[in-house]
Amino acid sequence: MDVLSLEHSVRTAHYFPAYLHLFTGPMKSGKTEGMIYHLDRSSYSHLSRFQLFKPCNDDRSDANLVFSRKYGTVPCQPIDPAHPEDILSYIGKDVTLIGIDEAQFFAPSLSDVVTALRRSRRHVLCAFLDTDFRGEPFPAAQRLLFSYPDRIEHLTAVCEAQPCEYDATMTQRLVDGQPAHYDDPIELIEKAGRKEVYEARCIFHHVVDRSPR
Ligand code: ADP
Ligand code: MG
Repeated sequence: MDVLSLEHSVRTAHYFPAYLHLFTGPMKSGKTEGMIYHLDRSSYSHLSRFQLFKPCNDDRSDANLVFSRKYGTVPCQPIDPAHPEDILSYIGKDVTLIGIDEAQFFAPSLSDVVTALRRSRRHVLCAFLDTDFRGEPFPAAQRLLFSYPDRIEHLTAVCEAQPCEYDATMTQRLVDGQPAHYDDPIELIEKAGRKEVYEARCIFHHVVDRSPR
């Protein structure tokens, strides 16, 4: 058993009406893993049923699957990120827990949707990046963090700059092996032959190219 699941194992309750549980931090910090752990665990109860959503612009895996580095893929309902209110039309009557992955890509009004779900006595779990590759907050993340959550798990990864052992709190974007430029769009358009990667980085190794263009 690793440290994370040891920490999870001390939690007993799997469903609290109107509870908001946030999993945030940089890439690879276990945000999706933490959320899936709770949703999976709730599925062993006869009293709870969960539904999982994600924005349809998360194209790392199939549109109908949420991807976790540890748990693999879990079926989900893709939603147009510009219309987070569409989530409400998919909620089944007997659903008690709702998971939302990659929540940072939704319009900031996602936080109003989350409040509506809580008022209908659902337990909501959201996994999201807090900041973009520049180290600046995603608008939807900012709203969620100030929407009176019951629990915020601010997770860290291990810095991927070599050699480094510090905790990674930020997400580094590299384009052709070099730090991305500040003026690059948040979501880069794929260009043939251009290799874009993301790494978890600590505050000492997070670099943004701010040179004049
Ligand atoms: P997130 O949703 O935050 O991007 P995942 O839940 O998909 O993250 O994956 C978390 C898992 O990724 C960890 O449990 C670990 O097994 C793996 N992992 C890969 N690279 C790293 C790293 N640099 N630091 C920590 N965990 C990492
Ligand atoms: Mg994830």
